[in-house]
Amino acid sequence: MDIILFGIQGSGKGTQGKLLKEYYNMSYFETGAQLRKLASEDSDLGHEVKKIIEAGHLVPNEIVMKIVQNFLSKVSEGKSIIFDGIPRNMIQAETFAKLLDDNNRKYKAVILELSKEEALKRLTQRRVCSKCKEVYPASYQKETCEKCGGKLITRTDDNTESIKVRLDAFFTETIPVINMFESKNKLIHINASGTIKEVDKNLKEILSPILKQQ
Ligand code: AMP
Repeated sequence: MDIILFGIQGSGKGTQGKLLKEYYNMSYFETGAQLRKLASEDSDLGHEVKKIIEAGHLVPNEIVMKIVQNFLSKVSEGKSIIFDGIPRNMIQAETFAKLLDDNNRKYKAVILELSKEEALKRLTQRRVCSKCKEVYPASYQKETCEKCGGKLITRTDDNTESIKVRLDAFFTETIPVINMFESKNKLIHINASGTIKEVDKNLKEILSPILKQQ
């Protein structure tokens, strides 16, 4: 069973997704990270994607779908996948559902619920490791990553203007997708306002019976 992780920016999708990946030994598809990798390439496509990400807009669907298609073609047989950051609009939802069906993949969606105010607070205060990309909340006071020693920086798209554009896109484009999963009884709600540990515990309590019944 695959898990499609939804949540407003700052809800902890990446952090929780990585914890689930380790615990259940799943594959992990992080759309934003894949696109940031593409954006770091010195090519026309790389430069185009970099500009779009920094402005907070969504990268064109065809580019995103090619990346996920490529990932699916390489995933080990029998391994479940956590999808983080896809689908983000109704067109992606349609193409993505078809892609999963064509690959005989079963899935459930999870929404990490957090208020817009709390999301804004987290996004403007978080930092990431410039080397290993580990994310650190405001409460982490040091200047270097505790995992690899890399310098902590603010993500280039975590600026006020881009955050506003990204949150708007979440409400206008992604909420309809989440509502569609809800209407198909495929959506699990998780309160994401607690600590990383609390949310992780809650997620595992709810997901374990589902992931173990496969
Ligand atoms: P994230 O790391 O999930 O916050 O994503 C960072 C940025 O990558 C987003 O603001 C978009 O510019 C781009 N991005 C991530 N996922 C998608 C997607 N499914 N479709 C289009 N663009 C995306």
